Amino acid sequence: MNSIASTFPDATAVIAAYHSLNLVGGERVPVGVGLDVLNPATGTVLGQAAASKATEVDAAVQSAKAAGGAWAAMPARERGKRVASAGRALAEHAELVAQVLARETGKAIRTECRGEVAVSADIMEFYGGLGSELKGETIPFNPRMLTMTVREPLGVVAAIVPWNVPLVLMMLKIAPALVAGNTVVVKASEEAPFATYLAAEIVMEHLPAGVLNVINGTGPDCGAALTAHPDVAKITFTGSEAVGETVYKAAAERIVPASLELGGKSPMIICADADLTKSVAGAISGMRFTRQGQSCTASSRIYVHESLYDGFLTALTAKLDALVIGDPLDEATDIGTIINAKQAKVVAEYVALAEAASGAKVVRCGKMPEGAGLSPDLFARPTLLLGLPEDHPCVQNEIFGPVAVIQKWSDYEDVIARANDSRYGLAATVWTQSLSMALDATARLNAGYVQVNQNLTIQPNVSYGGFGRSGVGKEASLEAMLAHFTRSKTIVMSFD
Ligand code: NAD
Repeated sequence: MNSIASTFPDATAVIAAYHSLNLVGGERVPVGVGLDVLNPATGTVLGQAAASKATEVDAAVQSAKAAGGAWAAMPARERGKRVASAGRALAEHAELVAQVLARETGKAIRTECRGEVAVSADIMEFYGGLGSELKGETIPFNPRMLTMTVREPLGVVAAIVPWNVPLVLMMLKIAPALVAGNTVVVKASEEAPFATYLAAEIVMEHLPAGVLNVINGTGPDCGAALTAHPDVAKITFTGSEAVGETVYKAAAERIVPASLELGGKSPMIICADADLTKSVAGAISGMRFTRQGQSCTASSRIYVHESLYDGFLTALTAKLDALVIGDPLDEATDIGTIINAKQAKVVAEYVALAEAASGAKVVRCGKMPEGAGLSPDLFARPTLLLGLPEDHPCVQNEIFGPVAVIQKWSDYEDVIARANDSRYGLAATVWTQSLSMALDATARLNAGYVQVNQNLTIQPNVSYGGFGRSGVGKEASLEAMLAHFTRSKTIVMSFD
């Protein structure tokens, strides 16, 4: 291993090395005064990340633009091989990347961060094998004419990522974009940029300079300048519904394609014949309690058949009570912290709203941590909200914290209608032993990713993306690469 990552003795050195800089044109480019990045578990400043504005954004886009011609001209399989080898290099440095990620996100190293790096590397390897799938088609238009379509790259892709799963979400954008022949500017999340920089620099070692560039800054200063840049040919965004709307408007103003992965309020339906033990485990993983519920796909509305309701609640609270909330770096910890004070306040306000609702009950599980050096502010206990009406804000809005709504149901038609009563449409899950009920529910649930008797996270080769206000477009698959990172050109050639 002679990668740059091998020169870092530990995570602290990584964070110090990326002090207020961007990765542009294969170089570390200093940006002057930076933005403080906090360790949410301790409340202390971890380091400073670049505060890029329009000038730095322009430098990154120009770098990507300059690298575009030669990269697009490289055979697609060769591009793929480089992306795949970058994935393998990331896997070799997984522990270091995971250690950085745990410090800046507050996510537990054992239950979350290591898995995130592994999936990120896997995504690179998956897309790396798809270079020769960038196929067009021949069209039987006229026997005296050869009529065909070819796939071309779009140009400079702007990839904007959030803080909750920054590495996986970055790789879902850069891997297909690069294999398809585009060059990329990633806008890291200002809440958690350092693991993004480290993973990107590992990847860059397998690419010509300028093909991949990473900048950091605030949304209004850096993200908005990137989406407005005249040389950006495509925007791919993962983040909140509100910012997604702003980004989509920016794309519309310049008439460039944009794909959006936004929020969710995903229903999980537990039928009377469901396996109770498995569905309880599925509720815990589906709700992403070990990620503090900070997941767009979180099964945050759980509809339990009345015949199972009491047993389900008893088993669920017992399992949640057993999860250890604590220092994200401690191997014994299951649940780390919420990302920042603003998000913790949002979560607390939603729980207070539920507490004030007539007939509602709030159940808090687990114990707050007591470790030395930990700041208690951003730890939150898994919380269940019972007995809320369907139009309550806690049932309708994405809370993005460890808070699940548990509802009782008795009538199948009614529960399908309640599950679909949402402006979102990201994911849905059904737990049943009945094949016909599973088939019927999967057909009728209004969500882009529907699972039966399981709750997988994002997997390479399994198309992922939402309906309604959960977004536009798919990720993680060949379909996603072709649809979102290529354009189709039609060519008609006469024989005569
Ligand atoms: P956010 O929308 O606040 O920020 C996301 C990114 O957009 C950040 O990098 C931010 O700096 C940038 N940004 C902010 N304002 C901008 C602007 N005006 N122009 C351009 N960029 C701008 O989201 P967040 O708080 O970082 O992440 C949490 C949200 O992400 C949740 O709503 C969650 O549901 C969503 N999310 C969705 C998916 C999915 O695949 N559907 C996955 C993960 C997270």
